[in-house]
Amino acid sequence: MDITVFLGAPGSGKGTQAKRLAQRAGFVHFSTGDMLRAAIKAGDPVGLKAKQSIDRGELVADDVMIALIEKALTPLSPKSRVILDGFPRTVAQASALDAKPSTRVAHAVYFVLNEDKLIERLTGRRICSQCGESYHVRHLRSKVEGRCERCGGDLVQRSDDSEEVVRHRLKVFVSQNTKLLEYYGAAKRLQELNADAPVETIQNSLLKILG
Ligand code: AMP
Repeated sequence: MDITVFLGAPGSGKGTQAKRLAQRAGFVHFSTGDMLRAAIKAGDPVGLKAKQSIDRGELVADDVMIALIEKALTPLSPKSRVILDGFPRTVAQASALDAKPSTRVAHAVYFVLNEDKLIERLTGRRICSQCGESYHVRHLRSKVEGRCERCGGDLVQRSDDSEEVVRHRLKVFVSQNTKLLEYYGAAKRLQELNADAPVETIQNSLLKILG
């Protein structure tokens, strides 16, 4: 398996880029945040256990997350090209991937964006309650007021996108990120990407990085 992990703060555009790469270039994309939200919606015990941590902007326990991602990766063909978005968030999660030769990470891409922009992006974000598509109250408005352009679902604010929780999520991110950058940097797998650029520009840079 050829695994790339997207590192970067919440709101740095990892999900938007990963979804596009999956649609256009055949990457298999897993977002652990989306997986947890789907589990909550389905009433699954893993989701219900995680909900409290998510609503407070805390990380879900490493063992829960490692089991979730292992379950997702196990059925894939060894030829798959995979993007993980939102995983790993800790060095323990990163080591768990590298522990098995089949899931060793080939590239880590770090999306760099300053804090003011992150807060503006996250607090203005709206997502479709049906399909999860992302919009923004100023920068990416839906053409259909209050509804998703793709599926017509209601647009809602994520419970953890309130300013208070966003600030906490960013603190949690900073507390883990340096260690993760050191982890991948030491093995020369890390590339930085300026995430303050148009979506298409970033997409083209990623296509170059990922070959
Ligand atoms: P995201 O959609 O990536 O911003 O994730 C939303 C929330 O899900 C995070 O704030 C965490 O509570 C939880 N979460 C997602 N991925 C992970 C992970 N790899 N490790 C721990 N918690 C996670």
